[in-house]
Amino acid sequence: MQTQKNDNTLGLYIHIPFCKSKCYYCDFFSFAGREDIIYPYFQALKNEIESYKGILGNYKIGTVYIGGGTPSVVDANCIRELINNCRKHFNIEPGAEISIEANPGTLSFDKLATYLDTGINRLSIGMQAWQDRLLESIGRIHRSGEFIENFELARKAGFTNINVDLIFGLPGQTFDDWTETVDNVAELKPSHISCYSLKIEEGTVFGDMLGEGRLKPVEDELDRQMYHFAIDRLAGHGFRHYEISNFSKPGFECKHNLVYWEGRQYIGLGAGAHSYFNGKRYNNTYDLNNYINCAAKNQFHRENIEEIDINGQISEYIILGLRLIRGVDVDKFKMKFETDVFDLFGKQIDRLISRGLIEFNERTLRLTKLGLDLANQVFIEFL
Ligand code: SF4
Repeated sequence: MQTQKNDNTLGLYIHIPFCKSKCYYCDFFSFAGREDIIYPYFQALKNEIESYKGILGNYKIGTVYIGGGTPSVVDANCIRELINNCRKHFNIEPGAEISIEANPGTLSFDKLATYLDTGINRLSIGMQAWQDRLLESIGRIHRSGEFIENFELARKAGFTNINVDLIFGLPGQTFDDWTETVDNVAELKPSHISCYSLKIEEGTVFGDMLGEGRLKPVEDELDRQMYHFAIDRLAGHGFRHYEISNFSKPGFECKHNLVYWEGRQYIGLGAGAHSYFNGKRYNNTYDLNNYINCAAKNQFHRENIEEIDINGQISEYIILGLRLIRGVDVDKFKMKFETDVFDLFGKQIDRLISRGLIEFNERTLRLTKLGLDLANQVFIEFL
């Protein structure tokens, strides 16, 4: 059977774990008030890049994603040096998609111009909601006026590929709030919009508030209404729904995220970053100080190293593939794994089709409208 080892193109993820303040719903690996270690952290990243240079010599980097945290809170020269170091040691393909995440209130024209100058060609802005009262209630540092200003600044600086992140199902968010958010953002004509359903996680401010009975989550029915509204309305605005939570203008799908969904290889740099390389998944330490101190001695602790055997590869391929609206092509599956998906999962597929959660059209298995709502129930069948 073919394995990932034959693929010599990689995605590169670089984690910048700094934020101005912590949003109430956020369980990402990010910290507020750690400006003191920004420069040592970038030095550590430099060392980590160098640690991979011999290993990645034969690989091409097709996409780079600088995520966080809020990468745009740091000095743009740190980002410039970071990209320069990647170019020095890795084989970044000409025309590679290079994305950076940014939050309104942390951008300036000069910063955006520096990003473009370094070759960053995709900007992902965390807008989340249009209404200032909601932004305040979820602990965001910006208001919608700043989002509009920063979006227009990005256009003026020369960004043509801009994603806007939105969240629905926020406590206190009405259906009308959501329709206003979707319409107003779509009218700005970004090339990509992500719409995430809020999940309240333990260890967040919202998680604590929920535990103490001080937070009323949105009803499931409203959450689903909001999701299906986004699907229909964004289609009307010319966006293609290509992944459960993602919509793009034709040709503007996020190439880096497609690396994950198509089960291809990637390397993650920085504290807490995950990698999938040579058939193994692993992550860097989540201890920020430890990451920096060890990197200074050129030591990099990779944790949770997990060899993905062929059964694991097959499960991941189907689960990730079903996240894509185009679904899983059963002929491609057969070519890749030299086995028929119906031989392996015939019973599960029949059961899911009879429950109306997936459909089979000619040669693809894909989620139905109901399946999009109950995707986890589908995925579990392929584990
Ligand atoms: S800006 Fe993003 S990463 Fe930072 S705290 Fe808010 S949601 Fe989390």
